[in-house]
Amino acid sequence: MSELPRVIIVGGGFGGLWAAKALSGKPVEVILIDRKNHHVFQPLLYQVATAVLSPGEIAYPIRRILHNAENIEVILGEVTGFDREAKTVTLDDGTQVSYDYLIVAAGARHAYFGNDAWETFAPGLKTVEDAVEIRRRIFLAFEIAERKAALAGTQEPLNFVVVGGGPTGVELAGAIADIARQALKKDFKAIDTTKARVMLFEGSDRVLGTFARELSESAKRQLEELGVEVHLNSFVTNIEPGRVQVGNQWIDCEVVLWATGVAASPLGKALVAETDKAGRVFVEADLSVPGSPEVFVIGDMASLKQENGDPVPGVSPAAMQMGTHSANNILADIKGNARENFRYVDKGTMATIGRRKAISDVFGIKTTGLVAWLFWLFLHVMFLIGFRNRFAVMFNWFWAYLTRERSARLITGDADELRDALIFMEGEPAAKEVFEFRRVKKAGTKTP
Ligand SMILES: Cc1cc2nc3c(=O)[nH]c(=O)nc-3n(C[C@H](O)[C@H](O)[C@H](O)COP(=O)(O)OP(=O)(O)OC[C@H]3O[C@@H](n4cnc5c(N)ncnc54)[C@H](O)[C@@H]3O)c2cc1C
Repeated sequence: MSELPRVIIVGGGFGGLWAAKALSGKPVEVILIDRKNHHVFQPLLYQVATAVLSPGEIAYPIRRILHNAENIEVILGEVTGFDREAKTVTLDDGTQVSYDYLIVAAGARHAYFGNDAWETFAPGLKTVEDAVEIRRRIFLAFEIAERKAALAGTQEPLNFVVVGGGPTGVELAGAIADIARQALKKDFKAIDTTKARVMLFEGSDRVLGTFARELSESAKRQLEELGVEVHLNSFVTNIEPGRVQVGNQWIDCEVVLWATGVAASPLGKALVAETDKAGRVFVEADLSVPGSPEVFVIGDMASLKQENGDPVPGVSPAAMQMGTHSANNILADIKGNARENFRYVDKGTMATIGRRKAISDVFGIKTTGLVAWLFWLFLHVMFLIGFRNRFAVMFNWFWAYLTRERSARLITGDADELRDALIFMEGEPAAKEVFEFRRVKKAGTKTP
């Protein structure tokens, strides 16, 4: 057995991976445990959900990323608990692995404010599986509308609801509006896809509330230019299959997407450490858990105030910086040096809204529209992991820009949902009606 101190890292996301990279080749034995075999570049998940990119272009095998690191073993497994006294980590099959140091970086998910049952009707976007499910729902909704229109002869309303006006909600709403108004309009014959409504509901008085007010206002205008109906000060209070309640009003909708609320990984509670309301662990300035200097909690799971009193935000640069910092503090211990306190370096924020539409606030310079959008594209390609992915993403973006095509429009999964949605078809109309309907839509064109 190795004489080197053993570091267990839980999670191969931004925090865990950056910690592993900082420990690569150093005098420690590292075991990185993740329940997925891949690292996900979450900022581009919405592009998978809206069919610009394929999953493999934004996710990369963790084992491959760390293949040159001789001192790092990658284990595929779900961590279910810890024993801080015995210094062990428990896996889902009951296996216990001991550590000298522990870095917990298991991230966060969306919170449904105590209404977890809503998740079935209104999925959030966090994993590759979520993105594929959202993509399925969006494109299935158009297919069902087309089939109904082609066979029944009338176009029923097609409504999309996005709950939450943060970056993910804004990105999804903008992209769905683009899909309806541009990408699909020539591909569907019976329905006019441009008539689909995209509604964004945000509980506060502005979208992208962490940005300067003028940038939020610009983002709202840019969304409206794309055709998104932005409803501010509007709380979604209930969700049922096929409809959402906002205030006293029920709104029918085919697809609801959830993009608000944060719930840190339950592993924070499993550490038996003090947490905030969102389940984030209160950490010391060196990122360790109070009372356990050998245990670090980082990234979206950590709750820490900056010197100015603001919380360290739940964004990828903060997770990466914390990953490197926690690793450096472990190495400082081993060398007998003093640990350093964590200081978040905020280089700025940006959010994209759609084609040539974005906002950015970087080093205090605020930009909107095309400049911000180009900046966003450049930075996201730069931080993507893997040369092949960077190349593929750049090619797909270029192609999508030129053609407005969304080429990853696959509807995966079984056909049950499609069948359920077509119950109305008892007594199916004759094929003749299909052609009559087409003639109605495409006035002046010859029917087949
Ligand atoms: C849709 C979306 C868009 C985003 N866009 C941006 C953006 O544009 N810019 C930005 O800066 N930030 C963005 N973020 C936030 C950013 O991705 C997070 O702040 C960052 O990923 C946090 O890193 P982390 O290491 O704490 O957690 P994560 O990156 O979420 O990694 C957690 C890892 O832990 C693993 N894990 C979880 N539980 C267990 C368990 N029990 N056992 C084993 N493994 C486990 C997971 O599989 C995952 O690999 C976005 C997030 C989302 C969801």
